[in-house]
Amino acid sequence: AISALDAAQRRSDLNAFLHLDRDLTLAQADTADRLLATGKSTALTGIPIAHKDVFVTQHWRTTAASKMLATYVSPFDATVVSKLQAAGAVSLGKLNCDEFAMGSGNENSAFGVVRNPWDATAVPGGSSGGSAAAVAASLVMAATGTDTGGSVRQPAALCGVSGIKPTYGTISRYGMIAYGSSLDQAGPIARHARDLLDLLDTMSGFDPRDSTSLEICDGAANEPGRIRGDFDAVVNDQQAAGDQPLKGLRIGVPTEFLNGGLAADVAAAVEAAVKTFESLGARRVSISLPRTALSIPTYYVIAPAEASSNLSRYDGVRYGHRAEQYRDLAEMTSRSRTEGFGPEVLRRIMVGTYVLSHGYYDAYYLQAQRVRRMIANDFQQAFADHCDVIMGPVTPSVARHIGDNKEDPTADWLADVYTLGVSLAGLPAMSIPCGFGSPQRPLPIGLQIIGNYFREGQLLAIADRFQ
Ligand code: GLN
Repeated sequence: AISALDAAQRRSDLNAFLHLDRDLTLAQADTADRLLATGKSTALTGIPIAHKDVFVTQHWRTTAASKMLATYVSPFDATVVSKLQAAGAVSLGKLNCDEFAMGSGNENSAFGVVRNPWDATAVPGGSSGGSAAAVAASLVMAATGTDTGGSVRQPAALCGVSGIKPTYGTISRYGMIAYGSSLDQAGPIARHARDLLDLLDTMSGFDPRDSTSLEICDGAANEPGRIRGDFDAVVNDQQAAGDQPLKGLRIGVPTEFLNGGLAADVAAAVEAAVKTFESLGARRVSISLPRTALSIPTYYVIAPAEASSNLSRYDGVRYGHRAEQYRDLAEMTSRSRTEGFGPEVLRRIMVGTYVLSHGYYDAYYLQAQRVRRMIANDFQQAFADHCDVIMGPVTPSVARHIGDNKEDPTADWLADVYTLGVSLAGLPAMSIPCGFGSPQRPLPIGLQIIGNYFREGQLLAIADRFQ
């Protein structure tokens, strides 16, 4: 724990951590020692991890990378935090991210941009940019992240590490600062699929304190061991199949994922990865997800709508920043919010309140809900008729330069095209490293593997074959 803390301090240039606290870390290391001494250790005992700063923690500040919550300390721990702690993982602290998890480049943090460990001039991705950067720089073995529209998969891809977002409802959202509640799902980031398995299995499980937490997943109880059980079953089948372990596996590659917007180096790396799976016995089938492009406007109506509602609690009264000068109560609230929220958060609130307002609700919000259902149905049709898993890129290109999209905030929104549909459908999906960009920009490229509901174990077993 001490050497991990030292390494984290040495790499302060990355700006991956928002808070480190030696005493708190050492106290957890003592707990880990106790678990080891009493024979109650798990695979995660003593392992250095860190949490995205949207998981509330009793002892560290939790800021959501916002000035609004700059000094906030929660009276309780998020379920994810307490589960990992109970398993003996040692958290070094809290990780930088986009403000309230809104963004794709970690440039929307009130506490500064995070740098990509592969190239200090490149973004690490977002919104879980600090999480991916900390794992890529080997400051921690694993980090927690959250994925509302891609924020676990995309930074993992751009930093050359692995990440998984499980089926919506698998991991408790209790104590996870809300962005778009019908989309928000936690997920771990680590180097390899096997590590993700240990983490995901520990983090998942029914939680009565989250009303959307699932008790039963596809007939099995949503308890620790469920995902591992699926993983072991798939691995057994693979082993029985000998030198063609993936024989019978149909990999659907959506034609819409290989469209004009995809950079040639990313397309080539994804093609090569699919070929590797074919050499292991899998069969490639071309499929269609016809509403892929529609996932962008659909998501960017629904997510801001939910965000505008979730963020209404920051009123300068109950939580967070309060303006110093105001005439009356209304001005106190408006000033506190204007001062406390950054520009991207304010933009989302404006979009969200607009699409929910009387006269526009039917045209935007309700319509987006209808398209959301169609997008989910498209995935179900693909799984029912054509394939077992879906593969494709995570991002249209490798990590861009810091500052590139400053003038056009919606440019980043468009780059989310391959991750948003999965989130709208609530499906599990992961990202694993599959190569590097062109010699001009040799940065990491991620392969996205998408499964049907509750097939996290299958995804991890397939990824493990590749790694
Ligand atoms: N880039 C997307 C957004 O800004 C996704 C973020 C996320 O998954 N938290 O909303």
